[in-house]
Amino acid sequence: MTKTIISPSKYIQGPGELSNLSSYTTQFGHHAFIIADKFVTSLVGKTIAGSYAGREDRYTLETFNGECSKKEIQRLSAACKSQNADVIVGIGGGKTCDTAKAIGHYNHKPVIVAPTVASTDAPTSALSVIYKENGEFDEYLMLPLNPSFVIMDTKVVAAAPARLLVAGMGDALATYFEARATKRANKTTMAGGYVTEAAIVLAKLCYQTQIAEGLKAKLAAEKHLVTEAVEKIIEANTYLSGIGFESGGLAAAHAIHNGLTILEETHQKYHGEKVAFGTLVQLILEDAPKEEIEEVIAFCLSVGLPVTLADLGVSEINEEKLRKAAELSCADGETIFNMPIKVTPELVYAAIVTADSVGHYYQSRYR
Ligand SMILES: [Zn+2]
Repeated sequence: MTKTIISPSKYIQGPGELSNLSSYTTQFGHHAFIIADKFVTSLVGKTIAGSYAGREDRYTLETFNGECSKKEIQRLSAACKSQNADVIVGIGGGKTCDTAKAIGHYNHKPVIVAPTVASTDAPTSALSVIYKENGEFDEYLMLPLNPSFVIMDTKVVAAAPARLLVAGMGDALATYFEARATKRANKTTMAGGYVTEAAIVLAKLCYQTQIAEGLKAKLAAEKHLVTEAVEKIIEANTYLSGIGFESGGLAAAHAIHNGLTILEETHQKYHGEKVAFGTLVQLILEDAPKEEIEEVIAFCLSVGLPVTLADLGVSEINEEKLRKAAELSCADGETIFNMPIKVTPELVYAAIVTADSVGHYYQSRYR
């Protein structure tokens, strides 16, 4: 029974870290191929240029078009080849980082990711989530290695809208419950083996950090301040949740997220916001203790994460559509089969509708 835990070689976090970028990329060679979308370039372009002042030949900054699709990965890979780059850098959101990882993989080059938000736990993983050009989930691209370096500039992260940090809390909220389910079911993880004790401990710390620091971090992030709580939440959303999901296992929460992408109304919501509701659905599906469900819902309500379908933008409950979402959650190869119970689309549909009712119940109680 082989147990495996994987991680990036180096995780770097602190205010102003992006201004040290050139010192990190030069550890891998002469030329860095950097991708960032237009918006991120307008935010950090000067910082990047400042980092490479007097060494402008050492980097290329290419604009990312915004979708981590096969077409965009091919386009940027070709640009990377033409620059003869030694290292690929992705600066931006989850899709930018995932695209950088895919480019590094296809070009056999090391990858550095520098997320400008802490809205998902994708950055540290050896995984890219590929989307269709219309925004629907396409497939997971499994990579042989994690990114070499992950750099979190907490000042940049705190400058982003607080809703993104909260979405990251939603993604991180699922981590422990999915890892726990995977371990209980004795299933293997994306790390390629059974769950280590280390991964479970990191996943649990991730959850405990959300409960203890989430609200404080949200309130500071709304004023774009870097406090100790913000630092802890950024680390939990990115590093703890990253190792936790990858080496601890994904289960129902993420599969339900994938199913919900079939509902067009949810496309306006962030990954982590849908995963938060997916977490609630998983807890109903596995019949978790009432106290646990209450703690999760109270947390979601305190930071403003969705607990009902209406919160996700689904104003009208359409049985046929919800049954389709449930079916998609149970597609072949989905992580929902890491649950320690026998899952069927019928059970998932019942859990989605019940989670919605439970969410409404507590919403009216806490108001
Ligand atoms: Zn996620």
